[in-house]
Amino acid sequence: MRTAVALFTRDLRVADNPVLAAAAEADRMVALFVLDDAVLAGDFNRPNRAGFLAECLADLRAALRKRGGDLVVRSGATTDQVARLAEQTDATTVHVAGDVSGHAQRREERLHKRLAGAGVELRVHSDALFVVPPGRITPAGRDHMAVFTPYFRRWEATTTRPPVPTPRRLHSVRVRSGRLPTAQGICDGVESPERPAGGEREGRRRMSAWLRGPIDAYADRHDDLAGDATSRLSPYLHFGCLSPHELRARAVDRGGAGADAFVRQLAWRDFHAQVLAARPDAAAADYRTRGDRWRHDPAEFDAWRSGQTGVPIVDAAMRQLRLEGWMHNRARMLVAHFLIKTLYLDWRAGAAHFLDLLVDGDIANNTMNWQWTAGTGTDTRPNRQYNLIRQAHRHDPHGEYVRRYLPELATIPGPQVHEPWRLPPDVRDGVDYPDPIVDLMAARERFRRGRDR
Ligand code: FAD
Repeated sequence: MRTAVALFTRDLRVADNPVLAAAAEADRMVALFVLDDAVLAGDFNRPNRAGFLAECLADLRAALRKRGGDLVVRSGATTDQVARLAEQTDATTVHVAGDVSGHAQRREERLHKRLAGAGVELRVHSDALFVVPPGRITPAGRDHMAVFTPYFRRWEATTTRPPVPTPRRLHSVRVRSGRLPTAQGICDGVESPERPAGGEREGRRRMSAWLRGPIDAYADRHDDLAGDATSRLSPYLHFGCLSPHELRARAVDRGGAGADAFVRQLAWRDFHAQVLAARPDAAAADYRTRGDRWRHDPAEFDAWRSGQTGVPIVDAAMRQLRLEGWMHNRARMLVAHFLIKTLYLDWRAGAAHFLDLLVDGDIANNTMNWQWTAGTGTDTRPNRQYNLIRQAHRHDPHGEYVRRYLPELATIPGPQVHEPWRLPPDVRDGVDYPDPIVDLMAARERFRRGRDR
Protein backbone atom coordinates (compact mmCIF):
# COMPACT_ATOMS: atom_id res chain seq x y z
CA MET A 1 0.00 0.00 0.00
CA ARG A 2 1.58 3.30 -1.14
CA THR A 3 0.99 6.45 0.88
CA ALA A 4 1.81 9.96 -0.33
CA VAL A 5 1.91 13.35 1.35
CA ALA A 6 0.77 16.46 -0.57
CA LEU A 7 2.63 19.33 1.06
CA PHE A 8 0.68 22.49 0.28
CA THR A 9 2.65 25.73 0.25
CA ARG A 10 1.27 28.49 -1.96
CA ASP A 11 -0.74 26.24 -4.23
CA LEU A 12 -3.88 26.50 -2.11
CA ARG A 13 -6.41 24.96 -4.48
CA VAL A 14 -7.85 21.64 -5.56
CA ALA A 15 -8.34 22.51 -9.27
CA ASP A 16 -5.44 21.90 -11.65
CA ASN A 17 -3.02 21.20 -8.84
CA PRO A 18 -0.24 18.76 -9.85
CA VAL A 19 0.82 18.30 -6.20
CA LEU A 20 -2.63 17.15 -5.07
CA ALA A 21 -3.35 15.16 -8.25
CA ALA A 22 -0.06 13.24 -7.99
CA ALA A 23 -0.53 12.48 -4.29
CA ALA A 24 -4.10 11.33 -4.97
CA GLU A 25 -2.77 8.64 -7.31
CA ALA A 26 -1.26 6.79 -4.37
CA ASP A 27 -3.41 4.24 -2.50
CA ARG A 28 -3.74 6.67 0.40
CA MET A 29 -2.79 10.27 0.83
CA VAL A 30 -2.56 13.02 3.37
CA ALA A 31 -2.71 16.76 2.62
CA LEU A 32 -0.53 18.90 4.86
CA PHE A 33 0.01 22.59 5.47
CA VAL A 34 2.73 23.71 7.88
CA LEU A 35 2.67 27.06 9.63
CA ASP A 36 6.42 27.39 9.63
CA ASP A 37 7.88 29.03 12.75
CA ALA A 38 10.62 30.76 10.83
CA VAL A 39 8.17 32.24 8.32
CA LEU A 40 5.79 33.37 11.06
CA ALA A 41 8.64 35.10 12.89
CA GLY A 42 10.01 36.76 9.73
CA ASP A 43 9.42 40.06 7.96
CA PHE A 44 7.20 38.50 5.33
CA ASN A 45 4.45 37.60 7.80
CA ARG A 46 2.07 40.56 7.72
CA PRO A 47 -1.61 41.05 8.71
CA ASN A 48 -3.09 41.39 5.21
CA ARG A 49 -1.50 38.21 3.89
CA ALA A 50 -2.16 36.42 7.19
CA GLY A 51 -5.89 37.18 6.96
CA PHE A 52 -6.01 36.10 3.36
CA LEU A 53 -4.05 32.91 4.13
CA ALA A 54 -6.36 31.96 7.00
CA GLU A 55 -9.32 32.20 4.61
CA CYS A 56 -7.49 30.18 1.94
CA LEU A 57 -6.78 27.39 4.41
CA ALA A 58 -10.38 27.23 5.63
CA ASP A 59 -11.59 27.08 2.05
CA LEU A 60 -9.04 24.41 1.10
CA ARG A 61 -9.97 22.24 4.08
CA ALA A 62 -13.65 22.47 3.11
CA ALA A 63 -12.85 21.52 -0.50
CA LEU A 64 -10.74 18.54 0.59
CA ARG A 65 -13.36 17.37 3.09
CA LYS A 66 -16.01 17.49 0.38
CA ARG A 67 -13.88 14.94 -1.46
CA GLY A 68 -13.46 12.66 1.52
CA GLY A 69 -10.07 14.08 2.49
CA ASP A 70 -8.86 16.69 4.94
CA LEU A 71 -6.24 19.36 5.40
CA VAL A 72 -3.84 18.48 8.17
CA VAL A 73 -2.42 21.61 9.79
CA ARG A 74 0.79 21.57 11.80
CA SER A 75 3.08 24.22 13.30
CA GLY A 76 6.86 24.10 13.61
CA ALA A 77 9.76 23.68 11.21
CA THR A 78 8.46 22.43 7.86
CA THR A 79 11.18 19.78 7.52
CA ASP A 80 10.45 18.32 10.96
CA GLN A 81 6.71 18.30 10.47
CA VAL A 82 6.85 16.71 7.03
CA ALA A 83 9.33 14.05 8.18
CA ARG A 84 7.19 13.29 11.23
CA LEU A 85 3.97 12.94 9.26
CA ALA A 86 5.69 10.81 6.61
CA GLU A 87 6.93 8.48 9.32
CA GLN A 88 3.59 8.38 11.11
CA THR A 89 1.70 7.48 7.92
CA ASP A 90 4.38 5.24 6.33
CA ALA A 91 4.49 7.59 3.35
CA THR A 92 6.95 6.76 0.59
CA THR A 93 6.58 10.01 -1.37
CA VAL A 94 6.12 13.68 -0.57
CA HIS A 95 4.86 16.00 -3.33
CA VAL A 96 5.51 19.74 -3.25
CA ALA A 97 5.34 22.68 -5.68
CA GLY A 98 8.66 24.03 -6.97
CA ASP A 99 9.13 27.65 -5.92
CA VAL A 100 11.71 30.34 -6.45
CA SER A 101 12.55 32.47 -3.42
CA GLY A 102 15.71 31.82 -1.42
CA HIS A 103 13.51 30.59 1.43
CA ALA A 104 11.65 28.15 -0.84
CA GLN A 105 14.85 26.88 -2.42
CA ARG A 106 16.42 26.24 0.99
CA ARG A 107 13.23 24.51 2.19
CA GLU A 108 13.34 22.20 -0.80
CA GLU A 109 17.02 21.37 -0.23
CA ARG A 110 16.43 20.58 3.44
CA LEU A 111 13.42 18.43 2.63
CA HIS A 112 15.42 16.50 0.04
CA LYS A 113 18.17 15.76 2.53
CA ARG A 114 15.94 14.90 5.42
CA LEU A 115 13.53 12.70 3.48
CA ALA A 116 16.27 10.93 1.54
CA GLY A 117 17.77 9.93 4.89
CA ALA A 118 14.43 8.34 5.79
CA GLY A 119 14.02 6.61 2.42
CA VAL A 120 11.18 8.90 1.35
CA GLU A 121 11.15 10.39 -2.14
CA LEU A 122 10.54 14.13 -2.59
CA ARG A 123 8.83 14.97 -5.87
CA VAL A 124 8.97 18.62 -6.82
CA HIS A 125 6.32 19.81 -9.29
CA SER A 126 7.95 22.78 -10.96
CA ASP A 127 4.89 23.61 -13.06
CA ALA A 128 2.35 23.93 -10.25
CA LEU A 129 2.91 27.66 -9.67
CA PHE A 130 4.06 28.84 -13.09
CA VAL A 131 2.91 28.39 -16.68
CA VAL A 132 6.49 27.91 -17.84
CA PRO A 133 8.69 26.81 -14.95
CA PRO A 134 11.94 28.64 -14.24
CA GLY A 135 14.88 27.15 -16.13
CA ARG A 136 12.77 25.87 -19.05
CA ILE A 137 13.60 28.87 -21.27
CA THR A 138 17.28 29.77 -21.22
CA PRO A 139 19.74 31.40 -23.58
CA ALA A 140 22.77 29.34 -24.61
CA GLY A 141 25.16 28.91 -21.71
CA ARG A 142 23.08 30.89 -19.17
CA ASP A 143 20.57 29.96 -16.51
CA HIS A 144 17.91 32.61 -17.13
CA MET A 145 16.68 35.22 -19.58
CA ALA A 146 17.44 38.82 -18.67
CA VAL A 147 15.24 40.65 -21.21
CA PHE A 148 11.47 40.24 -21.33
CA THR A 149 10.65 40.59 -25.05
CA PRO A 150 12.78 37.64 -26.29
CA TYR A 151 11.67 35.68 -23.22
CA PHE A 152 8.03 36.31 -24.10
CA ARG A 153 8.51 35.17 -27.71
CA ARG A 154 9.82 31.85 -26.47
CA TRP A 155 7.27 31.65 -23.62
CA GLU A 156 4.41 31.89 -26.14
CA ALA A 157 5.91 29.10 -28.22
CA THR A 158 6.64 26.76 -25.30
CA THR A 159 4.53 23.64 -24.95
CA THR A 160 3.04 23.50 -21.48
CA ARG A 161 1.59 20.67 -19.45
CA PRO A 162 -2.02 19.60 -19.98
CA PRO A 163 -4.47 20.42 -17.15
CA VAL A 164 -4.49 17.89 -14.33
CA PRO A 165 -7.84 16.50 -13.20
CA THR A 166 -9.33 17.61 -9.89
CA PRO A 167 -9.53 14.45 -7.74
CA ARG A 168 -13.18 13.47 -7.18
CA ARG A 169 -12.53 11.21 -4.22
CA LEU A 170 -9.56 11.28 -1.86
CA HIS A 171 -8.45 8.19 0.04
CA SER A 172 -7.05 9.77 3.12
CA VAL A 173 -5.05 8.42 6.01
CA ARG A 174 -6.72 9.22 9.30
CA VAL A 175 -4.55 11.49 11.41
CA ARG A 176 -5.32 14.33 13.77
CA SER A 177 -6.25 17.21 11.51
CA GLY A 178 -5.13 20.11 13.72
CA ARG A 179 -6.91 23.39 14.21
CA LEU A 180 -7.14 25.94 11.40
CA PRO A 181 -5.27 29.14 12.26
CA THR A 182 -7.01 32.46 12.65
CA ALA A 183 -5.64 35.59 11.04
CA GLN A 184 -4.56 36.90 14.45
CA GLY A 185 -2.97 33.56 15.24
CA ILE A 186 -0.78 33.88 12.15
CA CYS A 187 0.05 37.57 12.53
CA ASP A 188 -1.22 39.98 15.10
CA GLY A 189 -2.01 43.41 13.69
CA VAL A 190 -4.50 45.51 11.81
CA GLU A 191 -5.59 44.52 8.32
CA SER A 192 -6.59 46.85 5.53
CA PRO A 193 -10.33 47.47 5.82
CA GLU A 194 -10.98 46.61 2.17
CA ARG A 195 -8.69 43.62 1.78
CA PRO A 196 -10.06 41.09 -0.74
CA ALA A 197 -11.39 37.81 0.63
CA GLY A 198 -9.15 34.76 0.29
CA GLY A 199 -9.75 31.26 -1.02
CA GLU A 200 -10.11 29.19 -4.16
CA ARG A 201 -13.88 29.59 -4.34
CA GLU A 202 -13.63 33.39 -4.25
CA GLY A 203 -10.74 33.30 -6.72
CA ARG A 204 -12.71 31.16 -9.17
CA ARG A 205 -15.74 33.39 -8.86
CA ARG A 206 -13.62 36.42 -9.73
CA MET A 207 -11.82 34.59 -12.53
CA SER A 208 -15.10 33.60 -14.16
CA ALA A 209 -16.51 37.11 -13.86
CA TRP A 210 -13.31 38.52 -15.39
CA LEU A 211 -13.28 36.08 -18.30
CA ARG A 212 -16.95 36.60 -19.05
CA GLY A 213 -16.44 40.15 -20.28
CA PRO A 214 -14.10 42.69 -18.68
CA ILE A 215 -11.01 40.96 -20.12
CA ASP A 216 -12.10 42.04 -23.60
CA ALA A 217 -11.36 45.69 -22.78
CA TYR A 218 -8.02 44.96 -21.06
CA ALA A 219 -5.79 46.05 -23.96
CA ASP A 220 -7.42 49.49 -24.12
CA ARG A 221 -8.23 50.09 -20.48
CA HIS A 222 -5.62 48.40 -18.31
CA ASP A 223 -3.90 51.73 -17.57
CA ASP A 224 -7.12 53.60 -16.80
CA LEU A 225 -6.62 54.21 -13.09
CA ALA A 226 -10.19 55.26 -12.27
CA GLY A 227 -11.68 52.57 -14.50
CA ASP A 228 -10.12 49.87 -12.35
CA ALA A 229 -10.20 47.64 -15.41
CA THR A 230 -7.60 45.02 -14.50
CA SER A 231 -8.44 41.56 -13.15
CA ARG A 232 -7.37 42.02 -9.51
CA LEU A 233 -6.51 38.32 -9.57
CA SER A 234 -2.94 38.82 -8.30
CA PRO A 235 -3.58 37.73 -4.66
CA TYR A 236 -5.24 34.53 -5.91
CA LEU A 237 -2.27 33.84 -8.17
CA HIS A 238 0.19 34.58 -5.39
CA PHE A 239 -1.44 32.10 -2.99
CA GLY A 240 -2.18 29.60 -5.76
CA CYS A 241 -5.96 29.76 -5.29
CA LEU A 242 -5.93 29.92 -9.07
CA SER A 243 -3.83 27.93 -11.49
CA PRO A 244 -1.95 30.21 -13.88
CA HIS A 245 -2.19 27.41 -16.47
CA GLU A 246 -5.95 27.34 -16.26
CA LEU A 247 -6.18 31.13 -16.30
CA ARG A 248 -3.97 31.35 -19.36
CA ALA A 249 -5.82 28.55 -21.19
CA ARG A 250 -9.21 30.10 -20.53
CA ALA A 251 -8.01 33.55 -21.59
CA VAL A 252 -6.58 32.06 -24.81
CA ASP A 253 -9.93 30.34 -25.44
CA ARG A 254 -11.70 33.65 -25.02
CA GLY A 255 -9.36 35.20 -27.61
CA GLY A 256 -9.13 38.79 -28.85
CA ALA A 257 -6.83 41.73 -28.22
CA GLY A 258 -7.81 42.00 -24.54
CA ALA A 259 -7.01 38.37 -23.83
CA ASP A 260 -3.71 38.60 -25.73
CA ALA A 261 -2.61 41.59 -23.66
CA PHE A 262 -3.69 39.85 -20.44
CA VAL A 263 -1.77 36.66 -21.27
CA ARG A 264 1.32 38.78 -21.90
CA GLN A 265 1.07 40.10 -18.31
CA LEU A 266 0.92 36.54 -17.01
CA ALA A 267 4.22 35.96 -18.79
CA TRP A 268 5.78 38.80 -16.76
CA ARG A 269 5.01 36.76 -13.67
CA ASP A 270 6.96 33.80 -15.02
CA PHE A 271 9.73 36.07 -16.28
CA HIS A 272 10.38 37.54 -12.84
CA ALA A 273 10.17 34.11 -11.24
CA GLN A 274 12.89 32.71 -13.49
CA VAL A 275 15.14 35.71 -12.72
CA LEU A 276 14.72 35.25 -8.97
CA ALA A 277 15.12 31.46 -9.18
CA ALA A 278 18.53 31.97 -10.78
CA ARG A 279 19.47 34.99 -8.65
CA PRO A 280 17.73 34.65 -5.25
CA ASP A 281 20.08 37.31 -3.87
CA ALA A 282 18.23 39.84 -6.09
CA ALA A 283 15.55 39.94 -3.37
CA ALA A 284 17.86 42.33 -1.52
CA ALA A 285 20.80 43.20 -3.78
CA ASP A 286 20.89 45.14 -7.07
CA TYR A 287 20.52 42.75 -9.98
CA ARG A 288 22.68 45.19 -11.95
CA THR A 289 24.24 47.80 -9.78
CA ARG A 290 24.25 51.40 -11.02
CA GLY A 291 26.53 52.74 -8.29
CA ASP A 292 23.72 54.72 -6.63
CA ARG A 293 24.45 56.57 -3.41
CA TRP A 294 20.90 56.66 -2.15
CA ARG A 295 19.79 59.59 -0.04
CA HIS A 296 18.57 58.93 3.49
CA ASP A 297 15.60 61.06 4.54
CA PRO A 298 13.19 59.49 7.05
CA ALA A 299 10.76 62.44 6.89
CA GLU A 300 10.40 62.18 3.12
CA PHE A 301 10.06 58.41 3.35
CA ASP A 302 7.30 58.80 5.94
CA ALA A 303 5.49 61.33 3.75
CA TRP A 304 5.62 58.82 0.87
CA ARG A 305 4.47 55.95 3.04
CA SER A 306 1.54 57.81 4.51
CA GLY A 307 0.40 59.44 1.26
CA GLN A 308 1.34 63.00 2.26
CA THR A 309 3.88 64.00 -0.38
CA GLY A 310 1.73 66.79 -1.84
CA VAL A 311 1.71 65.03 -5.25
CA PRO A 312 -1.89 63.82 -5.55
CA ILE A 313 -1.35 60.90 -7.91
CA VAL A 314 1.31 59.48 -5.58
CA ASP A 315 -0.69 60.08 -2.42
CA ALA A 316 -3.91 58.62 -3.84
CA ALA A 317 -2.10 55.42 -4.78
CA MET A 318 -0.39 55.10 -1.40
CA ARG A 319 -3.75 55.51 0.32
CA GLN A 320 -5.26 52.88 -1.96
CA LEU A 321 -2.52 50.49 -0.83
CA ARG A 322 -3.30 51.10 2.82
CA LEU A 323 -7.05 50.84 2.35
CA GLU A 324 -7.22 47.79 0.10
CA GLY A 325 -3.90 45.96 0.45
CA TRP A 326 -3.66 46.29 -3.31
CA MET A 327 -2.65 48.96 -5.80
CA HIS A 328 -3.16 49.35 -9.55
CA ASN A 329 -0.07 48.43 -11.62
CA ARG A 330 0.34 51.85 -13.24
CA ALA A 331 0.05 53.46 -9.81
CA ARG A 332 2.70 51.05 -8.45
CA MET A 333 5.03 52.18 -11.21
CA LEU A 334 4.41 55.85 -10.45
CA VAL A 335 4.84 55.68 -6.68
CA ALA A 336 7.95 53.52 -7.04
CA HIS A 337 9.31 55.99 -9.57
CA PHE A 338 8.60 58.87 -7.20
CA LEU A 339 10.43 57.20 -4.32
CA ILE A 340 13.43 56.13 -6.36
CA LYS A 341 13.89 58.63 -9.15
CA THR A 342 12.31 61.72 -7.61
CA LEU A 343 13.29 61.41 -3.94
CA TYR A 344 16.33 59.29 -4.81
CA LEU A 345 15.65 56.97 -1.86
CA ASP A 346 16.66 53.30 -1.87
CA TRP A 347 14.26 50.95 -3.70
CA ARG A 348 14.66 48.38 -0.87
CA ALA A 349 12.78 50.61 1.60
CA GLY A 350 9.92 51.01 -0.86
CA ALA A 351 9.79 47.31 -1.64
CA ALA A 352 9.68 46.50 2.08
CA HIS A 353 6.75 48.88 2.62
CA PHE A 354 4.87 47.26 -0.27
CA LEU A 355 5.47 43.85 1.28
CA ASP A 356 4.07 45.14 4.57
CA LEU A 357 0.70 45.79 2.94
CA LEU A 358 0.22 44.01 -0.39
CA VAL A 359 -2.00 40.95 -0.24
CA ASP A 360 -0.32 39.84 -3.47
CA GLY A 361 3.10 40.72 -1.96
CA ASP A 362 5.45 38.37 -3.69
CA ILE A 363 9.24 38.31 -3.49
CA ALA A 364 9.78 37.72 -7.21
CA ASN A 365 7.19 40.14 -8.56
CA ASN A 366 7.68 42.80 -5.96
CA THR A 367 11.46 42.89 -5.94
CA MET A 368 11.95 42.52 -9.65
CA ASN A 369 9.37 45.21 -10.42
CA TRP A 370 11.00 47.55 -7.92
CA GLN A 371 14.37 46.82 -9.48
CA TRP A 372 12.89 47.34 -12.95
CA THR A 373 11.68 50.78 -11.89
CA ALA A 374 15.00 51.57 -10.21
CA GLY A 375 16.88 50.64 -13.35
CA THR A 376 18.89 48.14 -11.34
CA GLY A 377 16.85 45.24 -12.75
CA THR A 378 15.93 44.08 -16.22
CA ASP A 379 14.76 47.36 -17.79
CA THR A 380 16.82 47.99 -20.91
CA ARG A 381 16.46 51.76 -20.31
CA PRO A 382 17.61 52.00 -16.69
CA ASN A 383 17.64 55.81 -16.46
CA ARG A 384 14.17 56.43 -17.92
CA GLN A 385 12.27 59.16 -16.12
CA TYR A 386 8.54 59.79 -16.18
CA ASN A 387 6.93 63.17 -15.94
CA LEU A 388 4.60 62.26 -13.08
CA ILE A 389 2.14 65.06 -13.70
CA ARG A 390 1.85 64.15 -17.37
CA GLN A 391 1.33 60.52 -16.33
CA ALA A 392 -1.39 61.60 -13.90
CA HIS A 393 -3.24 63.49 -16.64
CA ARG A 394 -2.87 60.64 -19.09
CA HIS A 395 -4.01 57.81 -16.82
CA ASP A 396 -6.51 59.71 -14.66
CA PRO A 397 -7.71 62.36 -17.12
CA HIS A 398 -10.68 63.51 -15.05
CA GLY A 399 -8.99 63.19 -11.66
CA GLU A 400 -11.51 60.59 -10.47
CA TYR A 401 -8.91 58.19 -9.12
CA VAL A 402 -7.28 60.95 -7.07
CA ARG A 403 -10.58 62.18 -5.65
CA ARG A 404 -11.63 58.60 -4.78
CA TYR A 405 -8.68 58.09 -2.44
CA LEU A 406 -7.98 61.68 -1.31
CA PRO A 407 -11.20 62.96 0.25
CA GLU A 408 -9.51 66.24 1.17
CA LEU A 409 -9.34 67.02 -2.58
CA ALA A 410 -12.86 65.82 -3.35
CA THR A 411 -14.21 69.32 -3.98
CA ILE A 412 -11.65 70.17 -6.68
CA PRO A 413 -13.27 69.38 -10.01
CA GLY A 414 -11.72 67.84 -13.12
CA PRO A 415 -8.04 67.36 -13.85
CA GLN A 416 -7.03 70.43 -11.83
CA VAL A 417 -6.91 68.07 -8.89
CA HIS A 418 -3.53 66.81 -10.13
CA GLU A 419 -1.87 70.16 -9.46
CA PRO A 420 -3.54 71.77 -6.44
CA TRP A 421 -0.59 74.15 -6.06
CA ARG A 422 -1.77 75.89 -9.26
CA LEU A 423 -5.23 76.63 -7.90
CA PRO A 424 -6.11 80.30 -7.17
CA PRO A 425 -5.27 81.09 -3.52
CA ASP A 426 -8.92 81.59 -2.52
CA VAL A 427 -9.79 78.05 -3.68
CA ARG A 428 -6.63 76.54 -2.19
CA ASP A 429 -7.24 78.13 1.19
CA GLY A 430 -10.08 75.79 2.06
CA VAL A 431 -8.12 72.68 1.13
CA ASP A 432 -6.18 70.80 3.80
CA TYR A 433 -3.46 69.30 1.65
CA PRO A 434 0.34 69.84 1.75
CA ASP A 435 2.51 71.47 -0.89
CA PRO A 436 4.79 69.05 -2.74
CA ILE A 437 7.71 67.97 -0.55
CA VAL A 438 10.02 68.23 -3.53
CA ASP A 439 10.51 70.33 -6.66
CA LEU A 440 9.77 67.77 -9.35
CA MET A 441 11.95 69.33 -12.04
CA ALA A 442 14.95 69.83 -9.75
CA ALA A 443 14.58 66.25 -8.58
CA ARG A 444 14.83 64.96 -12.15
CA GLU A 445 18.17 66.76 -12.48
CA ARG A 446 19.37 65.40 -9.15
CA PHE A 447 18.67 61.85 -10.27
CA ARG A 448 20.37 62.41 -13.60
CA ARG A 449 23.47 63.75 -11.87
CA GLY A 450 23.39 60.80 -9.43
CA ARG A 451 23.43 58.34 -12.30
CA ASP A 452 25.99 60.28 -14.38
CA ARG A 453 28.69 60.13 -11.77
P1 FAD B 1 -3.64 42.33 -14.20
O1 FAD B 1 -3.29 43.56 -14.95
O2 FAD B 1 -5.02 41.84 -14.31
O3 FAD B 1 -2.60 41.21 -14.67
C1 FAD B 1 -2.87 39.82 -14.54
C2 FAD B 1 -1.77 39.16 -13.77
O4 FAD B 1 -0.53 39.25 -14.46
C3 FAD B 1 -1.52 39.76 -12.41
O5 FAD B 1 -2.44 39.30 -11.46
C4 FAD B 1 -0.09 39.31 -12.13
O6 FAD B 1 -0.04 38.00 -11.64
C5 FAD B 1 0.52 39.34 -13.52
N1 FAD B 1 1.23 40.61 -13.73
C6 FAD B 1 0.74 41.74 -14.23
N2 FAD B 1 1.71 42.68 -14.29
C7 FAD B 1 2.81 42.12 -13.80
C8 FAD B 1 4.13 42.58 -13.60
N3 FAD B 1 4.53 43.82 -13.93
N4 FAD B 1 5.01 41.73 -13.04
C9 FAD B 1 4.65 40.48 -12.70
N5 FAD B 1 3.42 39.99 -12.87
C10 FAD B 1 2.51 40.81 -13.42
N6 FAD B 1 2.66 41.83 -8.58
C11 FAD B 1 2.47 40.87 -7.67
O7 FAD B 1 1.77 39.89 -7.95
N7 FAD B 1 3.05 40.95 -6.44
C12 FAD B 1 3.83 42.01 -6.06
O8 FAD B 1 4.34 42.03 -4.94
C13 FAD B 1 4.02 43.05 -6.99
N8 FAD B 1 4.75 44.16 -6.68
C14 FAD B 1 4.93 45.15 -7.61
C15 FAD B 1 5.72 46.27 -7.29
C16 FAD B 1 5.92 47.28 -8.22
C17 FAD B 1 6.79 48.47 -7.87
C18 FAD B 1 5.32 47.19 -9.48
C19 FAD B 1 5.53 48.27 -10.51
C20 FAD B 1 4.56 46.09 -9.83
C21 FAD B 1 4.35 45.05 -8.90
N9 FAD B 1 3.57 43.92 -9.22
C22 FAD B 1 3.41 42.92 -8.29
C23 FAD B 1 3.07 43.70 -10.59
C24 FAD B 1 1.66 44.26 -10.88
O9 FAD B 1 1.56 45.57 -10.44
C25 FAD B 1 0.57 43.41 -10.21
O10 FAD B 1 0.74 42.05 -10.52
C26 FAD B 1 -0.82 43.86 -10.73
O11 FAD B 1 -1.02 45.21 -10.47
C27 FAD B 1 -1.88 43.02 -10.05
O12 FAD B 1 -3.15 43.47 -10.41
P2 FAD B 1 -4.09 42.61 -11.35
O13 FAD B 1 -4.18 41.23 -10.85
O14 FAD B 1 -5.32 43.38 -11.56
O15 FAD B 1 -3.21 42.58 -12.68
